[in-house]
Amino acid sequence: MEEIYCFAGNPLDRMSERRRDRAWVAALLADPAARVLPLVDLRPLTRGEAAAPMLDWQPAASWQAQIEAGAMLVFLGVGDDKRPYFAIDASAADLRPNGGDAPFDARTLAPLLPAGEAAIVAEARSLIDWHARHGFCAQCGTRTRVEAAGWVRRCPECKASHYPRSDPVTIMLAVRGEYGLLGRGRRRPGSRFSCLAGFMEPGETLEEGVRREVHEETGVRIGRVTYLACQPWPFPSTLMMGCLCEALSEEITVDPEELAEARWFSRAELRAMVERAATGAEDPTQVSVPGPVAIAHQIIRRWAFGLDGL
Ligand SMILES: [Zn+2]
Repeated sequence: MEEIYCFAGNPLDRMSERRRDRAWVAALLADPAARVLPLVDLRPLTRGEAAAPMLDWQPAASWQAQIEAGAMLVFLGVGDDKRPYFAIDASAADLRPNGGDAPFDARTLAPLLPAGEAAIVAEARSLIDWHARHGFCAQCGTRTRVEAAGWVRRCPECKASHYPRSDPVTIMLAVRGEYGLLGRGRRRPGSRFSCLAGFMEPGETLEEGVRREVHEETGVRIGRVTYLACQPWPFPSTLMMGCLCEALSEEITVDPEELAEARWFSRAELRAMVERAATGAEDPTQVSVPGPVAIAHQIIRRWAFGLDGL
């Protein structure tokens, strides 16, 4: 069965075929059942205990003044409960939720949320961030206008339509026999290793991207590539495409621009690293891998425990 990782499994129906219909969207917003998730500096507001926060969905009516004043509002979708859900950029509203605490960063918050809600956060965060950084037409420089309930920006001058994008990234575990190849980034502390990863380039297949990235960063040649699973990663708007790949060579020549170090780890070492990361008991004197929120953790776990192979 396909496993769903953090930020995947969004339960909302985005109703993408209808969101260009302004009257329909206005009726959704006027529905007393409509709910809005405010984000302050891209951090969703929450309520409840810090150890078990809940998304602070608020009645859309309570945001009417901000919406009319032009706050960025995006339609997220309709839930199983038939409620319409929106997100709003509340950065300018000077809100201080939870008695004055700063809201959680999405990366910290996501693992604490019920399955599916982190995916809604990913959708909201990526979209609001996109609007904040794409106010002008890439073709002619004119300020663009929001359409389709936040899913298009259209240029009034040259009529170009601009759509929010996901940037594909390959993230992979190269394996050779009983060993897997991990790298340590230049900005990472001395013991934290992870899967190699990199942005896909235009005109490249997934397999070609995997082979290029591993070879560029470590000098290792790659043969077969197997796709495992993917994960939206809303920082700002990436799709992490997880793969296993077969190493055809062993010698490592690290690209110092990309990595501080790369190393082969045995399957037993990787199992121990995954188990330590899953408990959150990180010890800086021991080598480690990212926690379960990251697809890197899941790729390493699946291979190390024999759930996936090439
Ligand atoms: Zn234009």
